[in-house]
This record gives sequence, structure tokens and C-alpha cells, in this order.
Amino acid sequence: AVFNFGSINIDYVYKVDHFVAPGETLSSTAYKAILGGKGANQSIACAKAGTRTLHIGAINSKDQHMLSPMTEAGVDMSHVKHSDDIASGHALIQVTPDAENAIILFGGANHTIELDHIDEVLQQAQTNDWVLLQNETNAISDIINKAYAKHIPVAFNPAPMTADIASLPLEKIQLLIVNEIEAMQLTNTKTENEAKLVLQQQYPNTNILLTLGKNGVIYLHAGNEQRAEAFVVDAKDTTAAGDTFIGYFLANYTNQDNVESAMRIACAASAIAVTREGAAPSIPDKDEVSTFLSN
Ligand code: ADP
Repeated sequence: AVFNFGSINIDYVYKVDHFVAPGETLSSTAYKAILGGKGANQSIACAKAGTRTLHIGAINSKDQHMLSPMTEAGVDMSHVKHSDDIASGHALIQVTPDAENAIILFGGANHTIELDHIDEVLQQAQTNDWVLLQNETNAISDIINKAYAKHIPVAFNPAPMTADIASLPLEKIQLLIVNEIEAMQLTNTKTENEAKLVLQQQYPNTNILLTLGKNGVIYLHAGNEQRAEAFVVDAKDTTAAGDTFIGYFLANYTNQDNVESAMRIACAASAIAVTREGAAPSIPDKDEVSTFLSN
């Protein structure tokens, strides 16, 4: 099973003619509220890939109705806490006609994971399970340390990247998943090749997945490098490509022996996702991915 300690956001998306300027009051021409957050998206991808997925996190009680994409995907939500006092994590997103966006993020309930709750959840995990983390919740170093002490492998996607990531106990992580920009930020480098070298030097015992958009993905393990090509598709919206990739990869990855097939399945799932608009709704289920791969 995958134990995802992750964010759940409500994305409030406003269409605007231009970004609101200082002192301006601007009317939006269209509005929608949708479920988002890297945590929620990765749980959905993982569950759709067919692996038992438990999401650990929190939202405000009044937003319960927003969770249906997670429950419908089969994510175990019994560890999602419902609070009355704190706002759900949310994003205010302005979108202009040329599809540029400007985003205000509020972490809210995503930052209320408690140490007792981490212990309680990890009691249920076995050494063949995974803990999955992104950088949109609190207590990341506690979760890494506690999982490590119990020999439960941790997969960490440090997104969005922040300066404090480098000071986390990353040497205790089994699998680090970064895109090209995150890899360069984390290593203070300017090219993909430099980033690759520094990552391997800094974290020699960590397996690293470096996703490269339409250039596919590289898996670095003990000085070796395995590559999988992305599928050529007509990309419409790359939102949640990485989240789809991560969920599908982890759901299918058990050890070095099946890395290649896990990468291929994850590339297929994320290729399908980029042909569709939106985040969670664009994540395909397992049958669609099998059909895609057999064509
Ligand atoms: P992120 O969304 O975190 O920036 P990437 O852009 O690296 O992550 O995408 C993750 C994976 O999604 C890639 O490794 C690739 O398999 C797939 N993918 C992303 N963009 C495309 C694309 N334009 N065409 C096909 N596959 C894509």
C-alpha cells in the first residue's frame, strides 16, 4: 500500500482579462472550484493505477463535498481529518486569455498533521509499503525520520521546491522524484547534466527519478542510469503530468527489477493526462493505460 501524507487543495479558478493590478478591483468573467493539490492528485493517480492508497491529511468540514474525485478513485480517506476551525488548503488562481496564471496559495489545514497521527498511521504500515510525500504539508522531516526508523521506504517529491528542502534528512529517502527545474534548484546547478551529477554525489544511496517533460524520464540508481522515452502525443494541458507520473510509477514499482516497466506505464499514464484538460479529471484509469500501451 501507499501511505500518502499529502495536500488537499481547493483550486478557485477565476478567468480574468488581465491580472489584477495594485489598487484595482477586477470582475472575473468565469469561475469554478475544483479539487487540487499535488497530494490529492498523486493519491488519485496511485489508486487509479490499482494500488491500495491511503491519504493522510486534513480539510475543513464544509469542503467535504469536494473530495469525491478521491473517493471515486478508491482512495482510502479514513485518515483525512475534518476540521471546523481552519480553512482548507486553497489556491486563488487568475487565468488570462493567453492561459497565463497567477496564483495565491494558502496552506491552511494541510499544515495541521500531528505527530501522534503520524505514529498511529505508521503503525499500520509494513516494510513493503511506501510512504509518499510532497512539499505542501507540515512535519515532513518528522514523517521521514519516523518512517525510516520503522524501515518503511519513503518516496519524496519536493514540489513546490523551497529553500529549506536541502536541510531535510534526504539521505533517509529511498526515492527522490524531481522534475528538471526542481533538480537544478535543489543542486544549485544550471543544466540537467550538472544536476544529475550533483544529485548522485549528494545522495549516493537514494534512487532518483528525474522527469524531463516530453523528453521522458531518467532513473538513477547506484551510479547507473536507465532512461524511458515519453510517448509522442498532442499535448493540451500538462497540469498534473508529474503527479500522474509519480502515482503510476510508485503503484507499479517494487524494486530495481521492474523499474523499466514502471517507467513505461507511468510515461503512458502521464502522456494520456497531458492530452486532456485539468488535473484530477485528466488522470486515466488502469484500463485506459493498458489499452494505450497495447496500441
Ligand atoms: P512536472 O509536471 O512535474 O513538471 P514533467 O513535465 O517532467 O513533470 O512530466 C512528467 C512526465 O509526464 C514526463 O516524464 C513524461 O513522461 C510525461 N509528459 C510530460 N509532458 C509530456 C508531453 N508533452 N508529452 C508526453 N509526455 C509528457
